[in-house]
Amino acid sequence: MTHYSPVPSYYAASTNPAPKRPALQGQCQADVCVVGAGYTGLSTALFLAEAGFRVVVLEAATVGWGASGRNGGQIVNSFSRDLDTIERQTAPDQLRLLADMAFEGSQIIRQRVSTYDIDCDLKEGGIFAALNPRQLKHLEAQQALWQRHGYHKLELLDRDAIRTRVGTERYVGGAIDHTGGHIHPLNLALGEAAALESLGGVIHEHSEVIQLIPGQPATVKTAEGEVKAQFVVLAGNAYLGGLVPELGAKSMPCGSQILATERLDEATANRLLPGDNCVEDCNYLLDYFRLSGDKRLIYGGGVVYGARDPANIERLIRPNMLKTFPELANVKIDYAWTGNFLLTLSRLPQMGRLQDNVFYSQGCSGHGVTFTHVAGKALAMAIQGQAERFDAFASLPHYPFPGGRLFRVPLTAIGAWYYAMRDRLTL
Ligand SMILES: Cc1cc2nc3c(=O)[nH]c(=O)nc-3n(C[C@H](O)[C@H](O)[C@H](O)COP(=O)(O)OP(=O)(O)OC[C@H]3O[C@@H](n4cnc5c(N)ncnc54)[C@H](O)[C@@H]3O)c2cc1C
Repeated sequence: MTHYSPVPSYYAASTNPAPKRPALQGQCQADVCVVGAGYTGLSTALFLAEAGFRVVVLEAATVGWGASGRNGGQIVNSFSRDLDTIERQTAPDQLRLLADMAFEGSQIIRQRVSTYDIDCDLKEGGIFAALNPRQLKHLEAQQALWQRHGYHKLELLDRDAIRTRVGTERYVGGAIDHTGGHIHPLNLALGEAAALESLGGVIHEHSEVIQLIPGQPATVKTAEGEVKAQFVVLAGNAYLGGLVPELGAKSMPCGSQILATERLDEATANRLLPGDNCVEDCNYLLDYFRLSGDKRLIYGGGVVYGARDPANIERLIRPNMLKTFPELANVKIDYAWTGNFLLTLSRLPQMGRLQDNVFYSQGCSGHGVTFTHVAGKALAMAIQGQAERFDAFASLPHYPFPGGRLFRVPLTAIGAWYYAMRDRLTL
């Protein structure tokens, strides 16, 4: 059994009240057993409960304990690799579906927030910030690409326009995605969990799945109980560990780190981010930041391949924050935390089946707030016998990580170092 320690994040310190959910004890039955209560698991479970399925979610720690309760909170459309990559890899009808879904996750989140009245500080508008002319050109190409796929809400910003939205001299321009935005990620997860329970879904916390026995029904075992289910959905992502070695071999957990400052006074917050938008820069190893509901700057970045916790997150991230906003030199850091996302070699998500009735979705490669919500819909529809969306995702190629468990970390770090150098040299 793994030890799940509490996360010292700003989010954990500012959650909405949530019930304690007892661990699974004894045997129970369900139409669908979902492993993991992050966005992938909760989104799938909620779509299924809305369709009348009996769903049991087993979570090793607590709701949102993984990346879903620790992330930058940025609602970013499309996937970690954009539609131009997907265009080269899929048949036209599947491309059509994938392109539609690329912009649907942000809408699913908004529908959830509105239908279930979820209090998660939802704010509108996400900015991509260019540090050099090459990155600005890339954003122009991204706008054309998205328009070609029917999406017209990405607006380019020149140097003056981005300065009216982000109070720093660093950027030569950017783009604002008007259906992007940001949220308190843990409160979104908790709100989705409450919505699921309001429809009769059951969540057991502190219930790590330690064995999956295939069959009809499949048996999903924890230390103290088991669920017999017609379908199983594996949604453990970077925290799934060794439960399914086949899924581990084609993905790699990576850490990203975030700081939250003390509360800023109104004038400072307005100077940094007058439009209250979220921002990510266009570097390969990118910085991302936004204001929290109570006006702290939440600033993230850094990637640790292989998911080791950095000795001192503040030492790693603070210099980047000060490069962007030098005026914060004397501002106190109240929280610093790390979380794991799951990288795939193609940086495209992996969705598939282990058996006819055992599904998985994983590996959104650091860009999963929207994808996980789309994935939930695709998985839920596949379980209901409508597999077009699921098949479109499943058609994307999955590759094993070169180097196996021993060498995948150094090999990937060398690759990332190369791209980071290119960014530094503005190539
Ligand atoms: C620091 C950080 C910042 C990020 N920022 C952004 C961002 O701003 N925008 C964006 O789009 N994406 C961002 N991401 C990525 C995004 O958070 C993830 O892609 C997404 O939350 C993944 O959701 P998930 O449900 O698949 O996995 P998770 O949220 O990690 O959930 C998996 C859950 O499964 C549970 N679990 C695992 N194994 C078992 C088991 N055997 N039994 C029972 N339960 C199990 C875990 O405890 C965990 O709660 C960020 C990620 C990190 C780490």
